[in-house]
Amino acid sequence: MRILVTGGAGFVPSHLCERLLNDGHEVVAVDNFVTGHERNLQPLRAFGDRFRFVEADVTRGLPSQAEVGRFDRVYHMASPASPIDYVELPFETLYVGSDGTRIALERALADGARFLLASTSEVYGDPAVHPQVEGYWGNVNPIGPRSVYDEAKRYAEALTMAFRRYKGVQTRIVRIFNTYGPRMRANDGRVMPAFVNQALDGQPLTVFGDGTQTRSFCYVTDLVDGIVRLMESDLDEPCNIGNPHEMSMTQLAQYINRFTGSAGGIVHKPLPKDDPTRRRPDIGRARQHLGWEPKVDFETGVAATVEWFKSLR
Ligand code: NAD
Ligand code: UDP
Repeated sequence: MRILVTGGAGFVPSHLCERLLNDGHEVVAVDNFVTGHERNLQPLRAFGDRFRFVEADVTRGLPSQAEVGRFDRVYHMASPASPIDYVELPFETLYVGSDGTRIALERALADGARFLLASTSEVYGDPAVHPQVEGYWGNVNPIGPRSVYDEAKRYAEALTMAFRRYKGVQTRIVRIFNTYGPRMRANDGRVMPAFVNQALDGQPLTVFGDGTQTRSFCYVTDLVDGIVRLMESDLDEPCNIGNPHEMSMTQLAQYINRFTGSAGGIVHKPLPKDDPTRRRPDIGRARQHLGWEPKVDFETGVAATVEWFKSLR
């Protein structure tokens, strides 16, 4: 197939491109490097003619059919994704979720392509239902600092459903839960890069708040497998993809210190506003419809991630 991936120079999307290329497809990746990195494209360039990169801002338009041909699949992955990124890039985040999603959907419509939106567990906000099932409508502050991301993604989901209902585009929506692995940026502010790099420096790990808030971490290749299965399934309702292995941020900090042999300890910093208190995906829908569940255990994933951050030094 011919496949378009927006945000292809980013962490998750570059792994997705690599998986699609390994599966034998032709991939065109578009990115404006707002949070992505050229080094993530290097492994993709090894696929020769089957991979093409176009530097472009998806909110201003995609390369034309005349330039890059028609597509069978459109994966709309572009968006800043770390809380420090989207707070520094509020308008870019809102526009890539709104204009960017519209432009990617219009392209899917024009090409007769199937479309997948990278949505997020953040659509559940600070969830009152635990674990989070897809039928839960969420608890999002529409005017808080995180709203530029959460509401952009909620709008993107609404737009995707409207293109399915009223224009007949075949659409898929993946709600991605916290994901980690190689190709994350050391300074992207998310907890895994922060803790691993602090530990490698022998510095105290910065636990925000009292550290009782929980997250559930999925290794990136597991996530990508779920995304590809979803795209190729007939499930047109949103689908959680994440690893239900839940832990508190204190437990994570203790694990990373032990794993790396760091004696730097822990220091507490203020909890960001509207930081969700707990998060764990219910993956019943993914199990039932995609035959998917995560395979990579936490220790293996952390080992690969630590090696990645060591290699950047
Ligand atoms: P990332 O920042 O590494 O990748 C996003 C990519 O999109 C970057 O390369 C960035 O430069 C590009 N981009 C942003 N705006 C663009 C624009 N206007 N035009 C072209 N390119 C643009 O982040 P990631 O963690 O790999 O996230 C990828 C997708 O998955 C995002 O949509 C994100 O919301 C979603 N997601 C990720 C996680 C996670 O834990 N990593 C969780 C939930 C959802
Ligand atoms: N966090 C932390 N220390 C850090 C960075 C993050 O304790 O240096 C916490 C953060 O407050 C949140 C959790 O780790 O409770 C996950 O944060 P991240 O930014 O990785 O993702 P998200 O909040 O989007 O789930």
